[in-house]
Amino acid sequence: MSSTRKQAYQDVLHRKPLHIEPMSRISSIFGENVFHLEVMREYLPEEAYKSIKESVATGSRVERRIADQVATAMKDWAISKGATHYTHWFQPLTGSTAEKHDAFFKPIGPGKAIEQFSGDLLVQQEPDASSFPNGGIRNTFEARGYTAWDPSSPAFVISNTLCIPTIFIAYTGEALDYKMPLLKALAAVDQSAVEVCQYFDKNVTKVSATLGWEQEYFLVDKAFYNARPDLMMTGRVLFGHAPAKGQQLDDHYFGSIPERVTAFMRDFERESIRLGIPVTTRHNEVAPNQFECAPMFEECNLANDHNLLLMDLMEKIARKHDFRVLLHEKPFAGLNGSGKHNNWSLATDTGVNLLAPGKNPKSNLQFLTFFVNTIKAIHDNADLLRAAIASASNDHRLGGHEAPPAIISAFIGSQLTQVLNDLESNIKAGKMTPQDKTELKLNIGKIPQILLDNTDRNRTSPFAFTGNKFEFRAVGSLANCAQAMTVLNTIMAKQLQLFKVAVDARIAKGNSKDEAILKELQQLISDSKNIRFEGNGYGEEWVKEAKKRGLSNLKDTPSALKVWKKKESIQLFEEQGVLTERELLARQEIEFEKYILRVQIEARLIGDMTQNHIIPAVINYQNQLVQNVIGLREVLGKDAAGATKVQEQLLKDLSVHLDKMQTFSREMLEKRKAANKVENIEKRAEAYRDTVKVYFDEIAYHANKLEILVDDELWPFPKLREMLFTK
Ligand code: ADP
Ligand code: MG
Repeated sequence: MSSTRKQAYQDVLHRKPLHIEPMSRISSIFGENVFHLEVMREYLPEEAYKSIKESVATGSRVERRIADQVATAMKDWAISKGATHYTHWFQPLTGSTAEKHDAFFKPIGPGKAIEQFSGDLLVQQEPDASSFPNGGIRNTFEARGYTAWDPSSPAFVISNTLCIPTIFIAYTGEALDYKMPLLKALAAVDQSAVEVCQYFDKNVTKVSATLGWEQEYFLVDKAFYNARPDLMMTGRVLFGHAPAKGQQLDDHYFGSIPERVTAFMRDFERESIRLGIPVTTRHNEVAPNQFECAPMFEECNLANDHNLLLMDLMEKIARKHDFRVLLHEKPFAGLNGSGKHNNWSLATDTGVNLLAPGKNPKSNLQFLTFFVNTIKAIHDNADLLRAAIASASNDHRLGGHEAPPAIISAFIGSQLTQVLNDLESNIKAGKMTPQDKTELKLNIGKIPQILLDNTDRNRTSPFAFTGNKFEFRAVGSLANCAQAMTVLNTIMAKQLQLFKVAVDARIAKGNSKDEAILKELQQLISDSKNIRFEGNGYGEEWVKEAKKRGLSNLKDTPSALKVWKKKESIQLFEEQGVLTERELLARQEIEFEKYILRVQIEARLIGDMTQNHIIPAVINYQNQLVQNVIGLREVLGKDAAGATKVQEQLLKDLSVHLDKMQTFSREMLEKRKAANKVENIEKRAEAYRDTVKVYFDEIAYHANKLEILVDDELWPFPKLREMLFTK
């Protein structure tokens, strides 16, 4: 083994799990590091408390006077939790979260200082934003942006710092982050859904989108991680022969979790609980060293903040346990990738889940209304949903044999398929008789509250109905869910508006309310049938069938991103007040840029690793073989022919793969240079996809052949079997 690899292996063999006490009485520590409403009640005067509570519930503006009081309370509370600094915590378009820390502490004269934090500092801050991506927005206007407090997501204390969730905007008002459009999309869907709810219940005044994410991830030991430049720089291995044993035996799923991993999980779960993230389930995933964490669902914006916080926590706490967490969608070719299923629904302030079948015909008609409208929204906007989950890293996963396909479709299960088919064929075109109506109501009333096929739900669908929510499974493990949730809630807002207009028009023509709703649903069911697919989403058959149906199959990020620029997309986002044309175009540009950069970094690394590590190892081995052949010839003379056969064949095989690997690497370098010269960013992304990225598999193929041929002692990188199976 090469010395780095040997050292890594030794390090890992000697690791001991950290001792982490199991959590007792979760309730006593839940949310203890969060400045939530209960704490505010304690720290704030009555009037200020009421006012802030109102703002949180309705999204109304917080008056400056109140903000000052909240700031003081927040500071006192945070200091009592050991905080010395505060930061606005925001979600720039890079994908991770950003912070800029300032001290509460302020010197006020020689030897004197006070702790201070005012409403001004709470409400708005100006981080040095010039290094965050902005897709040209700040360059053309003002080079400054600011962060602004989001009172709907509570502040929290982590590592002696008070973190205040904020949005991030340019001085010209454009969003430079993921949170601001999400908040706007949530407001849009709230408004449209409340209006539709009025058909069923006049008491509904607010509808919130709910999100329950399931985060998949891999763990590798930090020693292996540090010995793999590809993992360090790109989050995935660019080379590596598949281990003899992969996940064929399916013995990892729900298997027992290794002690070191349990200690890590306990540790980060405890921290999550303290930060008010309601984590509940944990289990092994299908691939070795792959795991999942899922909390209870929450209001969408809060849930998303919690996901970002959790990803951050995982990375920090993994280090403490000598692990590195891999959030990349496909860290190891040939093994399952990681996703982040987004369970989504809509909930009213009267306590109703609008996507759960109810107890009677009336509540079921409401359920069907939201259910069918969701399917229609997906049908009409599949490409937008696809674009929302597009990234260079997710491209490795989507369309793979064990990941949702790049074709967007919706699975609803056999029972609901039957219900929709019945509705579609049984509602008469003309006026319905009272008897028709009774019969329909009876049928609708028969939808069971608990749907049977939840148990054998279709895991191959990118968008599946799972009993009382939809599960958007194509979201990447590394992604900020806000992108997917912004699109989903925006298209739903739009669809519900269209529905309301259509139903009102039917009522105006003399239909009763129920009849109008039913007839409109019938229309939507029939118009959106194409998007429903109950079969195997991973099969080749589906690709053909989808094509026949005219569904898009946008296989990669550059293809998917095109949709942002379409007239209809711009119109939709502007009309819903979620993103302006400028913001959309800026976002598109940033996504193209990110794609190019990621492919570029990987291409560079492939060059470095082959040149600096693999080629020298191969030459070393060739030298050994050559020495051996020369020696044998010296000793055996003309009888050596038989004795050197294996060595000579090996030398030839090594040369073949070495030559191919090097030739492709050189070619790729030239293509990269050419691609960099392409002016237009969209075309440049395509050039990277079509002329650079296409070499990755070729080069890896030969590198992996070399890995098998070269003496294990000489191979420079930890092998996959070591990284994945060393206990
Ligand atoms: P799995 O998909 O792994 O089999 P579940 O079906 O139990 O697991 O999915 C659970 C996820 O769905 C959890 O994260 C949970 O919080 C979320 N979830 C449940 N109900 C809702 C809802 N109404 N809205 C959003 N998410 C929900
Ligand atoms: Mg799931």
